[in-house]
Amino acid sequence: MKSQAKVVIVGGGIMGVSLLYHLTKEGWTDIVLVEKGELTSGSTWHAAGQCPHMIGSYNLAKVHLHSTNLYKQLEKETGQATGFHDCGSLRLAYKKEDIDTALYFELVACMDSIHEKLITEALSLATLGNFTEYLFDLIFEYRFIFLDFVHLMKSNKKVATHYKELLKFRKLQFIQIIEMLKMQGVFREEALPDEYEKLYGRIQVYSDFYLSSVEIIEGGVTEIHKTHYKTNIQYAIYPYLTEKGRTEFANM
Ligand SMILES: Cc1cc2nc3c(=O)[nH]c(=O)nc-3n(C[C@H](O)[C@H](O)[C@H](O)COP(=O)(O)OP(=O)(O)OC[C@H]3O[C@@H](n4cnc5c(N)ncnc54)[C@H](O)[C@@H]3O)c2cc1C
Repeated sequence: MKSQAKVVIVGGGIMGVSLLYHLTKEGWTDIVLVEKGELTSGSTWHAAGQCPHMIGSYNLAKVHLHSTNLYKQLEKETGQATGFHDCGSLRLAYKKEDIDTALYFELVACMDSIHEKLITEALSLATLGNFTEYLFDLIFEYRFIFLDFVHLMKSNKKVATHYKELLKFRKLQFIQIIEMLKMQGVFREEALPDEYEKLYGRIQVYSDFYLSSVEIIEGGVTEIHKTHYKTNIQYAIYPYLTEKGRTEFANM
């Protein structure tokens, strides 16, 4: 047995073995895994495939998706059967609160995926415009949440706590997007202190409560309100654009 290596992994449970597998995939070679018993004889032995389908956040969902895809290809890659069955799972909700919670987190996960796409793909004023549209499509699709937003937040502590934290994170994401577009010369510098934070605050309140307002004033929401929403957001953003930004805006 080797007496030294660049990386020594202690424990051959799912964590250790997975680490070894992924490091090797990334080109690492000088690695030793030490297991005191048999591989996967610890708590991993008890776990049903380590592939739960319960999704608490978009990032965790990506880890789950990676695991599921990995198990599917392992047999082809190694020639060893893993016994994996991609059977999915059912999640039972016993109370309305559980359904609300599950649907709220589903919505957050969908929104996270749109945010991530926006930041990782080539960001521009046009993609920001598409982003606004996709985002409102989701708000519209999950309108049962927004039309009852205050009640949901007052009656569901888990959702309310998460939402308050989420707003802080969304503000950071918004400022990050604006900074990137400022670097492209599309958005102007701030003329007043914290101008963009305050812009975020207005857009957030508008987005979360727009449908409630329409419901109260017009007695119902329809597809046309998607267009109204998008136009109103575009108008809100326009004063912050530079000359270059306004030219891009005109070509959108
Ligand atoms: C009954 C039960 C059911 C579960 N069901 C699920 C499930 O359905 N889905 C799910 O996702 N999770 C499930 N879990 C949780 C999951 O099994 C664990 O979170 C996971 O297996 C932990 O993996 P690990 O690699 O960190 O630890 P382990 O699998 O415990 O691996 C640690 C390894 O390190 C070795 N070791 C320890 N000390 C040393 C040392 N000093 N030198 C060398 N080797 C050492 C041990 O022998 C062991 O093999 C379940 C857990 C239990 C107990």
